[in-house]
Amino acid sequence: MANQNLSPMQKKTKTTKKQKAIDPCPICSKDLHLNHEYTQRVGLLGDFDEVIGWLCPHCKSEFDTDNHLTRFQGEGNVRGEA
Ligand SMILES: [Zn+2]
Repeated sequence: MANQNLSPMQKKTKTTKKQKAIDPCPICSKDLHLNHEYTQRVGLLGDFDEVIGWLCPHCKSEFDTDNHLTRFQGEGNVRGEA
């Protein structure tokens, strides 16, 4: 049997660059920046299709157009999902 030099757990060296979030979510700090034109914010529309706020796709927190938190990480959102 050949003695294969395989290490089961490759130790990650310090190559991970800490990228500074350009447009971080105030709750989860994940970057909401997509490119120079768009963000990853999900627009929330009101009854008359007016923009009433936005949702963070990472932590599901919702904010109004003044960036005030209106729903923390999807809490209180009863959707009947498991
Ligand atoms: Zn978030």
